Amino acid sequence: MNYRYRIYPNLIQEQSLKEWMNVCRVAYNYGLREIKDWCNSRKCMVDRCSIVHEYIMAADSPFPGEVKQLNALPNAKKVFPRLGEVPSQVLQQAIKQLHRAWDGFQKIGHGFPRFKKFGQFKSLLFPQFKQNPVDGVHFSTRGCANGKLSAAHITLPKLGMIPINLHRPIPSGFVVKQVRIINKADFWYADINIQCDVNVPNPMPHGHPIGVDVGLEKFLATSDGVLVKSPKFLKVMQSKLKLLQRRLYRKKKRSNNYEKQRIKVARLHHTIDNTRKDFHFKQAHALCGAGDMVFMEALDYRTLAKGMLGKQMLDSEAVASLRASAGFGQFRTITKYVCWKRGKFFGEINALGTSQECPECGATVKKDLSVRVHHCQECGFIADRDVASGLVIRNRGRELISTDGQSGIQNAYADGLLGAEVSQSRSKSKTRKGVTRKSLK
Ligand SMILES: [Zn+2]
Repeated sequence: MNYRYRIYPNLIQEQSLKEWMNVCRVAYNYGLREIKDWCNSRKCMVDRCSIVHEYIMAADSPFPGEVKQLNALPNAKKVFPRLGEVPSQVLQQAIKQLHRAWDGFQKIGHGFPRFKKFGQFKSLLFPQFKQNPVDGVHFSTRGCANGKLSAAHITLPKLGMIPINLHRPIPSGFVVKQVRIINKADFWYADINIQCDVNVPNPMPHGHPIGVDVGLEKFLATSDGVLVKSPKFLKVMQSKLKLLQRRLYRKKKRSNNYEKQRIKVARLHHTIDNTRKDFHFKQAHALCGAGDMVFMEALDYRTLAKGMLGKQMLDSEAVASLRASAGFGQFRTITKYVCWKRGKFFGEINALGTSQECPECGATVKKDLSVRVHHCQECGFIADRDVASGLVIRNRGRELISTDGQSGIQNAYADGLLGAEVSQSRSKSKTRKGVTRKSLK
């Protein structure tokens, strides 16, 4: 688990943290340059050369991999003493971060890693601690009511003690594994990764299922008929943000006033993020309170956002609502986490055509975004459009857990399977039966 606490470094500590971030950024960029050079040197055709320029690198020079770059650090420190100022493990993490980004590009299909400009490297990871770096008692247990801060502090290598606001205690039995120091909107935070040796089993499917449809018009709709509107406060804050950004734009870059205004904008961004996160957590807890299994669409929201923006570019209302309700991905992650914490089952289902299907009979009911009511021609089922997709998601969720062969409820719902997929799901349930028989023997 990750707990985030606010920390209060003094001026000297703050300066060295910023300096370290910059050094890590330079190391990151240097590593990326090596990778880019290597790639460019291999781009040349076998039989011809470019007229303009050509990268020359020995044909057998190996790829600058993670291990190679990490091993190069000690020598690099002799040439650039600046590198030595940063705790070596923290510096190594910068290189590791680069290679995580590279792997993400190679394997998952994320974008090519980018150079980081000044100020874009905002966190430092301290990966290892010999002893518990957090010291001091949680203030409420100590009975200290007058000050917000207790004497608690976190001890970091080369920095010493930094006061920390332990607004909640680190639970007993947990060990601090990693600490990430984050600079956000001129606030400093410590993300403390704590681990416990207890093996937590994943929640098994049980009880009342809820299908959740997340949308633009409404924030979410559940299969139980609960509709939650997109939060208004975000829209209000967005317009405020716009105003602040316009003021920032008018300031002279790198002037004192520009810096002040930049912090104002960053603070507001920070507030918006926090408010949205809080809203997401509350919604997730409400879902967990209402049911025992939560199903959501497995959807790549980035492509959705792109598609939506492309289609409705002229409709400024839609764009505004998209901006205001952005962060579906975060909501899904948070819901997953809350479900895990509260022992509820979380499932992701195939999102294809959930809004075009009738939850009662499985017929396809074509409707575009403007149609807000689901009215099935086949069986006459009428419901709110989003509630209908919530129901479809719930049905698919039941199907999902039954085909996984995890529980005995599959037969009860097997007749509710969806039109076109009947033959397919039959074959699925047959194979499931085979599996259970084998496991019985
Ligand atoms: Zn129908």
